[in-house]
This record gives sequence, structure tokens and C-alpha cells, in this order.
Amino acid sequence: MKHLIRVLLSAVLMLLASHVGAHAKIRVVTTIPDLADLAKNIGGDLLEIKSLATGVEDIHAVPMKPSFATLLNRADVVILMGLEAEHAFLPGLLEAARNPKILRDAPGYIDCSVYITHLEVPTRIDRALGDIHPMGNPHFNLDPVGGKAMARAIADGLARNDPEHATIFKKNLAVYLQTLDAAIARWQREAAPLRGVKLVSYHPDMIYFAERFGMEPVGTIEIRPGVDPTPGHIVELEERMRREGVKVVVRELHYPATLAQTVARRTGAKVVELPAMVGGVPEARDYVSFIDYNIRTMLKVVQGG
Ligand SMILES: [Zn+2]
Repeated sequence: MKHLIRVLLSAVLMLLASHVGAHAKIRVVTTIPDLADLAKNIGGDLLEIKSLATGVEDIHAVPMKPSFATLLNRADVVILMGLEAEHAFLPGLLEAARNPKILRDAPGYIDCSVYITHLEVPTRIDRALGDIHPMGNPHFNLDPVGGKAMARAIADGLARNDPEHATIFKKNLAVYLQTLDAAIARWQREAAPLRGVKLVSYHPDMIYFAERFGMEPVGTIEIRPGVDPTPGHIVELEERMRREGVKVVVRELHYPATLAQTVARRTGAKVVELPAMVGGVPEARDYVSFIDYNIRTMLKVVQGG
């Protein structure tokens, strides 16, 4: 009888232990897949990670799904780009999720813009005019040095929420930063032919990429971030492109193709189609392959004549 009780007890204890083990994982929700991949590299098996966007969306307008509020309600941390990139959907979702752990200013709110030097900070903000970059340009994920800053912010945030595993996060961060540094050195070599090449993009999301690899953004098809073009704006843009010899029009895959193609055709430029985040094309399966894909695709078009 005693033996049976002991067996039963140990079975119960084992069950409890596995139960506790399964729930000890930090439940992480990221807004975009780039952040999910970085978090995976830093937290590994300690995390259970879900991304709201799959990578094909516009970060400023990720379509809502009913599951999002549930995911955020159960989350221990939320990891976001910040600089109000997610303004169109995240504040509302956080309100709906009713989870004090991940509200802005709570420890579980991990903002990946904290180590970023913001580009294009507006001197005057007017949402009525359609400003969707009120804190500066939030598309720093396209620059791998921005990726390093994002990884650092994630490691800090995870350590803040799970101090017990802080040394693991720190160690994994160091390993991942080494990987990125090696890739950045290679990308800098490979991207040398992009230096001085002028570009127009649909939305101003190429600015950090351009700065990193020496390209020159000359204008956008949008009038301002989030404001659709008018015929007058397009005429002006095309004149400027001819004057400045712009040969590259970037069409981010979540923007319409026709106008970018028309602008390119009328100015003798070529269209480069690029994803704006991990998962935007099947080849961009993680952060490193995403940057890889963008550089290779840009080089192919620029070097193709
Ligand atoms: Zn934007």
C-alpha cells in the first residue's frame, strides 16, 4: 500500500513538474516576424513565440484577427518595432487584450526602437495630413545594424521579465550579434556596387537600408508617409527622376504594382520588388535571409544594366 502511494505520489509530482515546465515558458507575442526570429535567437526554448503579422502585410495596417486579442491577453511580453509603426492596430489591441503586463510602460512592453538613431524625425506632426511616421522613420528593420539594436532591446526586455535567465539571454545575444556582424561585413562587400545609386520607393521605408549601403533615396511615389499620390505629384516625381538620373524604383510587395511600373517605364528606370519584413517572400524565412534577399535582389537589378 505504502509502495503504491509512493508511486502515485511520484507520478503526481512528475505530472506537476511537466505542467510547471510547460508553463514556465515566456509567452511572447511580436508584431512582425523579424522580431519573432530575433527573439528566437535570444530566448530559444525558454520562449513560446507568436507573431501577429506573417510578413506580407503593411506594418502600418496589419489586418486584425479575432485571435490577436486572445494571444495578447495570454502574453507575458509583447515585442514591437515602436516609433508608432504599429499605431494603426496595436494600441487598440492592447486595450482589447486587458493584460496589464504588456501595457505601454509595463515591463512586458518591449520597444525595439530604444537603441535606434531615428532618421527623418519630423519638425511638425500633423496626423490630419496623414503623418504615419510622427516619431521619425520606423523602418529600421531593413538595416542589419538596426537588427543588432533590435536584438539588444529584445535581450534587455527578456532579462527584465525573466531575470533568472538573464545570463542565457546575454550569452545568446552575444552569439547572435557575432553572426550578424559577420553577415554585415559580407553584405558591405557585396553591396559595394550599390554605392551612389539613386532610388525612388513607394513608401519611405528604404531610408535605413539606403543609408547603410550608400544608396541615395530621391523621393517616394506616396506624397508623404501614408498619403496616396496625386497625378501632379507623380509628374513632379518623374521630372526629378529624369533630372537626377534615377534608375531604380522600389516597389515594396504590399504596395500596388501598376503605378510603380508606370513610373519606371516613363523614366527609363527598373522596378525592384522587395519585401519590407521577414516572411514577405518565401526566401526571407528569417532575419539574415531577409537582408540577404533584399541585397541580392537590388544587386541583380542594378547590375543588370
Ligand atoms: Zn512607414
